[in-house]
Amino acid sequence: MSKSIQVAVAHGDGIGPEVMEAVIRILRGAGVLDHLDLRNVEMGLSAYSAGFPTGISSAAMYTMAECGLLLKGPMETPKGKGGKSINVTLRKIFSAAANIRPVAVLPGVPTRLKFDPNNPFRLVIVRENIEDTYGGIEHRLSAGTMLCRRLITEQGSLAIHRKAFEIAAQYGLRRVHCGHKANIMKMTDGLFLETFKRAAAEHPDIEAGDVIVDALCMNLVMRPEHYGVIVLPNFQGDIVSDLCAGLIGGLGFAPSANIGTSSAIFEAVHGSAPDIAGKGIANPTALLLSALMLLRHVGLLHHAALIENALLRALEEGVHTGDFGERSTASSTSEFADAIIARLGQGPQSSPPVPVPAFSEPTFVRPTPPTEPTMLLSGYTPEEEITGSDLFIDTTQTPMALAGVLEKVISGTSFRLEFISNRGTVVYPNPNPLTECTDSYRARFIAREGVPLTQADCIALLSLVASELTVSSYELLRNFDGQPGFSKAQGQKG
Ligand code: NAP
Repeated sequence: MSKSIQVAVAHGDGIGPEVMEAVIRILRGAGVLDHLDLRNVEMGLSAYSAGFPTGISSAAMYTMAECGLLLKGPMETPKGKGGKSINVTLRKIFSAAANIRPVAVLPGVPTRLKFDPNNPFRLVIVRENIEDTYGGIEHRLSAGTMLCRRLITEQGSLAIHRKAFEIAAQYGLRRVHCGHKANIMKMTDGLFLETFKRAAAEHPDIEAGDVIVDALCMNLVMRPEHYGVIVLPNFQGDIVSDLCAGLIGGLGFAPSANIGTSSAIFEAVHGSAPDIAGKGIANPTALLLSALMLLRHVGLLHHAALIENALLRALEEGVHTGDFGERSTASSTSEFADAIIARLGQGPQSSPPVPVPAFSEPTFVRPTPPTEPTMLLSGYTPEEEITGSDLFIDTTQTPMALAGVLEKVISGTSFRLEFISNRGTVVYPNPNPLTECTDSYRARFIAREGVPLTQADCIALLSLVASELTVSSYELLRNFDGQPGFSKAQGQKG
């Protein structure tokens, strides 16, 4: 029998190697390795120490590019200063844009909320994986001010929403909700919501709704059964999916798949849990469930069902690791895996088993990867008009003193000073003495009435202002089809 499907395997850091070893043993026990060729790759702390600044060795990069499939253990990320998260890097460089996080109550796993046993609770979080603040585009604007840019694109948003509706159909869920904060971030989350409505219109058979993310969090705790699929931007999706993991008993039970056009990464939602690493007590269920997502992705449906039934049976019989259930009777990671292997061929008794389809050869054919980066374009070019620029200025002057300098600098130019804001709130003209200011301002300059502007005019303005003050950032202001491509400041008139 030929092993037609190659899968890169990164064991990860912390508890990663322990849970991966357990999962691979279960896969082997179920005969999965007759069909999958697992190829170990070096990623994570060992790759960082070997001098690979991304945490991915060159050989791993090559193997991953060849396989297009990665089963990944959790990997550690340095906090604050230091290298970028390898987990985020992997999703981005392989364009694994859709993060699918199914959440389901499992037998024998205690939950804080009581769920109706006759109506098993299940939902799927679909999180955009590439954009948002996870671009990690951060700058220091002044001694005391940091900036993080949040990129949301029409193409990325539309693609994730379409995926969410596809997932609803695949999982047999009737509702899709878009979680967002479009009431505050009217442009970025506004676009996310607008594209959701477009995708929803393509699926009139599926109920669609939107919900502000803070209300969503409360609703998920009060009445989680209301939801089916929830699609969210990257950062909000990250937080909400951990909340959902909490609903079903914790991170030990939350799997995920990161699906792109020509690659897919399967990993547990949890991290490397350094506090319990090396003790042999970690729960391998989340990684196992992620591996089952991989098996289903490549068409090994028979094996996925076989293993899932054995897992359900083991949990139902009270087999547990230390993170759930009674600690004194907890199994080690390895014993937990043995218990599942021993139950292969059996299914749960308190609930219907997962139907086990007859074995058929996997159907997976990896889509041909592109030879150079793909341009994601909407195909529509709006009419553009330059209307001014925002300059971010690093100064400890008061708003009135700063305004005095700026008004003087721009006298005789094509620009007028529309406002100065601090932390997004207008502080000139008409400053409110109760508005507290920090050392980074934004000054908005717009064209004087009827004066056409070019980008060169705006650069010349930047240069003029920079002759007097430190300009830490510059933003071109444009109208697109007559609509401003920039937000108002808090407290701005008009
Ligand atoms: P974490 O690794 O998910 O662990 C948080 C806590 O959850 C652990 O201390 C442990 O709690 C429990 N836990 C998580 N997984 C478990 C498992 N399989 N079995 C039993 N208990 C489990 O979160 P963190 O401590 O915030 O992050 C640690 C590192 O992982 C960081 O460097 C972070 O950046 C990284 N991380 C990686 C990924 C990824 O690879 N995709 C995801 C998230 C975080 P107890 O203390 O109760 O035992």
